[in-house]
Amino acid sequence: MKDKNPANISFKNSKPYSKQFDDIYYSYGDGVEESNFVFFDNNDLPNKWNSWNKSHFVIGETGFGTGLNFLLALKKFKEYIKQNNQKVLKKLFFISFEKYPLSLNDLELIYKDSDLKDLASELIENYPCKTNGCHRLKFFDSKVILDLWIGDIHDSLSSICNFQNGFVDTWFLDGFSPNKNKDMWSKDLFKKLNSLSNQHASFSTFTASSFVRRNLEECNFEIKKVKGFRNKREMLTGKIKNKYISEKSTNEFTWPLLETREVALIGGGLSSILLAKLLVNNGIKTTIYTENSTLATGASGNSQGVVYPLISPSNDILTNFFISAFSFSSNEIKRTLKNDKESYKTCGVLQIDCPSRSTKKIENFDCDESIKINLSEKQTNLTTGLDINQKSIFYPGGLWVSPKNWIASILLNLKTSKLFTVKYNKKISSIEYLNPNDIRLKSDNNTNFHHEACIFTCGPYIKNFSQLENIPICPVRGQISLISPKYIATKEDSYKIQYNKINHVLCYDGYITPPDPRSGYQSLGASYKRNNLNTSYSEKEHSENLNSIIQSIPNVNWDNYFENKIKDYNVGIRATSRDHFPFIGPLLNNLPYDKNIASNFYPNIFLFTGLGSRGLTSGPLLAEIMVSTILGEPIPCELNLLKKIFPNRKWLKMISKNL
Ligand SMILES: Cc1cc2nc3c(=O)[nH]c(=O)nc-3n(C[C@H](O)[C@H](O)[C@H](O)COP(=O)(O)OP(=O)(O)OC[C@H]3O[C@@H](n4cnc5c(N)ncnc54)[C@H](O)[C@@H]3O)c2cc1C
Repeated sequence: MKDKNPANISFKNSKPYSKQFDDIYYSYGDGVEESNFVFFDNNDLPNKWNSWNKSHFVIGETGFGTGLNFLLALKKFKEYIKQNNQKVLKKLFFISFEKYPLSLNDLELIYKDSDLKDLASELIENYPCKTNGCHRLKFFDSKVILDLWIGDIHDSLSSICNFQNGFVDTWFLDGFSPNKNKDMWSKDLFKKLNSLSNQHASFSTFTASSFVRRNLEECNFEIKKVKGFRNKREMLTGKIKNKYISEKSTNEFTWPLLETREVALIGGGLSSILLAKLLVNNGIKTTIYTENSTLATGASGNSQGVVYPLISPSNDILTNFFISAFSFSSNEIKRTLKNDKESYKTCGVLQIDCPSRSTKKIENFDCDESIKINLSEKQTNLTTGLDINQKSIFYPGGLWVSPKNWIASILLNLKTSKLFTVKYNKKISSIEYLNPNDIRLKSDNNTNFHHEACIFTCGPYIKNFSQLENIPICPVRGQISLISPKYIATKEDSYKIQYNKINHVLCYDGYITPPDPRSGYQSLGASYKRNNLNTSYSEKEHSENLNSIIQSIPNVNWDNYFENKIKDYNVGIRATSRDHFPFIGPLLNNLPYDKNIASNFYPNIFLFTGLGSRGLTSGPLLAEIMVSTILGEPIPCELNLLKKIFPNRKWLKMISKNL
């Protein structure tokens, strides 16, 4: 999990050189010219984009290396959009695989004097940690999307979702030379690339090695030998000759596509607004229904929430997902709130080791230091400036955000689009599937609304809908106490007052945040009451919040830090699941009698709930996964995760055991 495979590089003639492979990253002459020649010219890019009749184009690349091909693709696509904003093609996906990711320092060194320096700094700003799995990075107002799969390419290609039987339009076959990296250029690789390719996908590669040629041919690629870059005699280019069509069994796991351009979202929290943003950006008419007079009440209505990864060492799929989701969410928050710096702060989060919440397992978990650092008792005290005297796990990139302001900021933007509507004070009491593309939503005052598609985003309240009766969601009430920090006299000057010094988020059984600069209050949270949908204030739960910090971190005299009296509060209901995975995806209408999964979905009805206590961290990437999947775009996660979050996953298990 940790940076097991750091790239081991040196610089020769100020160009990067891999010590692992004893090979250059790109030509010593001019890497940019070589890349332009080998990959862009030989795949007829960007010319091909001018007549492209789909809304997105997908480039796949073996070996991300220094990211040079990606940066050039980003540059060219920006130029293409500037000149062609009326054309059909609006979005570029660049999917790349890398086993030995470069460090940020190396990337900075490589591009410090380059013409691509500005674009490279965008990449560096977004660069993910080196944990295996898919990391989605967005550029140029989300018009260019990089899915960087870290890990061995063979493993990544085996775990990638391929519901459309091919989605890559062009392959850049890069990577270290075949005689130095034989494992990668195997027949198995090309077989997998074939199955991920579109019918007419093209490819090019700098090499003309005979064994690469043979492997490509044996995997149904049509090959052409052409003149190589500068003094290189030959290179290969070509296209798919025949695609492998995998035999699909009727009970094979899949997701249906959204078959319309119009969607209703039932619920007015973070889930709704994140999905609405992506749908509207993709030209889909979107209406949010909320039972309240504003968005972001309930669970999404807190003034401060904490964003940090959930590390559960016994659960690889969950942990890998949360590490990617954490980077993605932090980037999204920073991008969305770039003009509202008081609504979030990357202050770092400390998870304190305490009897009620031991951190031992997380401590032993091997992972990138940009994600977590184990701190001793002394280091914990030094970092926080508090006499905690307990060990902790430090998440240096952890942050607090105001979910309310985050949602408000997305809403402000969405309101400028004709494709977006919110219907306030509309509680939907039932939905009825009338015909394909005609779903009737009935509100509690008996008004009917008709939509072509619908996504349930109403958190724990899904039980009210007959289609969702068998989803095992558990509502968990939580109350946050807003408290006032104390001002204390300093020793040096008894007249001078000093602000209390909680500068990081501290997590234990509950959590406390640094003060919110707008209200001045700190959030002390949060109670956890299963199967409780009551949303009124509880004095008892305020006392529990206070006792929790006192008992979990007993060495600090908290009386010096905040007033015990509550200033304000927020109550929300979390939607939780037993296995900690959310419920996201299409819904089956025929349980459990028919094994043919594809023919048993409710067309155009989907579910997005179960974000539990970590929705601020997981929500943005989950929304991305959902929208990419239903629009038939590349999916930024492993197939295994889609199975884990599938709403009717219990049924899948039964199928695999033959019912
Ligand atoms: C006390 C508390 C503290 C938390 N702290 C954190 C934290 O620090 N970090 C973190 O990552 N996460 C935290 N969470 C979890 C996080 O807030 C949630 O995961 C996230 O807000 C869920 O968003 P949602 O949109 O799915 O659900 P909600 O925010 O619950 O939104 C659902 C909305 O749907 C509306 N609705 C319901 N039924 C209907 C209907 N029939 N018709 C119309 N509208 C309907 C509801 O009124 C509600 O507004 C916390 C949650 C709570 C309760």
